[in-house]
Amino acid sequence: MVHVGGRLTPPIAEPHCHLDAALLGARAPNRSGTLREGIRNWAALRSELTAEDVTARAIETAEMYAARGTLRIRTHVDTGSRVAVEALVALKPELLRRGIELQVVAFPQEGILRAPGRRAAWEAAIDAGCDVVGAIPHFERTTEEGWESVRLAFALAEERGLPVDLHCDETDDPQCRNLEVVCAQALDRGMAGLVVAGHCTALHSAPEPYAAKVMELVAEAGVMVVANPLDNIVLQGRYDGYPRRRGVTRVDQLWAAGATVGIGHDSVQDPWYRLGTACMLDPAWMLVHVGHLTSEADMIKVFETLHGANHGPWGGPDLLYEEGRARLLWWEDADPVEILRTRKGPAVVERGL
Ligand SMILES: [Zn+2]
Repeated sequence: MVHVGGRLTPPIAEPHCHLDAALLGARAPNRSGTLREGIRNWAALRSELTAEDVTARAIETAEMYAARGTLRIRTHVDTGSRVAVEALVALKPELLRRGIELQVVAFPQEGILRAPGRRAAWEAAIDAGCDVVGAIPHFERTTEEGWESVRLAFALAEERGLPVDLHCDETDDPQCRNLEVVCAQALDRGMAGLVVAGHCTALHSAPEPYAAKVMELVAEAGVMVVANPLDNIVLQGRYDGYPRRRGVTRVDQLWAAGATVGIGHDSVQDPWYRLGTACMLDPAWMLVHVGHLTSEADMIKVFETLHGANHGPWGGPDLLYEEGRARLLWWEDADPVEILRTRKGPAVVERGL
C-alpha cells in the first residue's frame, strides 16, 4: 500500500444558504450594504423569477459547493415566491443523482405576521414539500409578534413532524430576545437536536448577564446555533460609528457553554453579499478572524466543524466508506491550519456515486 499522506475527512455540510437568491447579486447591487436594502432588492427580483432561472442557478451553485467538497446543503427558500419553493423542492432528486443531498427550509423572508397572506404562503410551502419550518422573528412588526411567530413555527413543525430552522435575531439590537423563546419552545416540545437558530448576532451586543443566561439555555435546549460570518461581518454594525461592532455571534462563549455551533456560508453572490464562492473554507477562515479563534485548538475546531457539527441537520456526519461507496474528501495538507490558510479545497471529492 502506498502511503500518500494528506488528510481524509467526511464531506463538508452547508447548514445555511439561499439557493433561490444565489448568483443574483450583480442584477441588483446593494448600494448601502445593509441587510434591509438586500431584502428590498431581493423582493424586486423575486417577482420576476421563473422556475428555469431558479433551477439553473441552484444547480450551478450546488455544483460550485460540491466541487469544493460540500455534499450536503440546507437551503432556505423564500416562501413569498411559490415559483422558487416549487423549483427547489423539485430539484432534490436531480441533486441527489449528482451526490448532493438538499434540504429545503420554508423561510418567510418578510415575516409571517407582518401582512395578510404571508402566513398562508408559508404554510403552503410546507404543504408543497419543504423539509424544515423557518421563521424570521426579528423582522416581525413587534417584539410580541416576533415571539408569536416563533411559537407558530414550533407548533407547525410539531404538527407535521418537521425540524425548525430560524433566522434568529439577525440584528445589532441588544434588546432582541427571540433566541430565549426558541430555546423555551425546544425544551417544552422536546425538540432537542431538531432546532437550528441562524445568525444570533444580537447576542454579540447583549449585556453580559443576559448573554450568559441565554447561552446556557441554548446548550440545555439542544439548539444548534449557525454563525454566518461572511454576511454578518459586513451587514452588522451598519448603524454604528466607531468603535464598530463585529456583529458575529459569540462562538467561543457558546462553545464554552457546551452549545453546538455550525458555520454557514449563507450568500453566494446574492443581493446581500456579492463575494461568495461556495467554498466553505471561506466562512471558516473569516470566523477564525472575526471570532478571535486563532489559537491552534480553535482553528482546528473551526475546520472540523465543517465536516462535523455542520452535519447536525442530517443527524450526524456523512459516511466515509460503506459497501463499496465512498463519500469522502482527501486534502493534500494534513494540517487543518494549512488547509484554512491556503483555502485550496480538497484535492479529491468522492460523491459516493
Ligand atoms: Zn440566511
